[in-house]
Amino acid sequence: MHLKNGGLHLGYHTHYVVAGSKRRIILTALVTPPEVTDNLPMLDLIFHTRWRWHLLTSQVTGDTTYGTIENIKALEDQGIRAYIPVPNWEERYEVWSASHFRYEPQADQYRCPQGQILQRVEVIGPDGRQLYRAPTSVCNDCPVKGQCTTSTQGRRVYRHVGEEYLERVRS
Ligand code: SF4
Repeated sequence: MHLKNGGLHLGYHTHYVVAGSKRRIILTALVTPPEVTDNLPMLDLIFHTRWRWHLLTSQVTGDTTYGTIENIKALEDQGIRAYIPVPNWEERYEVWSASHFRYEPQADQYRCPQGQILQRVEVIGPDGRQLYRAPTSVCNDCPVKGQCTTSTQGRRVYRHVGEEYLERVRS
């Protein structure tokens, strides 16, 4: 395992599925090399555990490291509720994150805190993210622009494929 100080340490990762009862019984355990991060074997472990112990799983709980769109979508598509904190990386920025904007699915558009519409412009990159943008002139005249964007081209918001799953889990 690579250490934070740049050194190496002989080690491994262990991954567990634990029954959510008071007894906290370990149902499945997996040992992997250290480069296998927590989120990677999660789905295999869950589905193996369901099959091995004939469980009708209704919910899965995990910490932030499990909160990828792939994991959450796969669970929810199987009728399993994912109770996993979804990190909002944009909160690190000084301007408002996308969570300040409301998505309107029927019109496929976002609405900003000032009530202005951000229309879908194009698909960005191989991951299929969608770009939504507010009109440049509207943003440049907006009284709260300083809190919203540093751009002179209008505020942008990105929407990932499967974002609706994250929105449900966040709620
Ligand atoms: S800067 Fe643009 S997107 Fe942001 S609140 Fe103002 S009008 Fe809305």
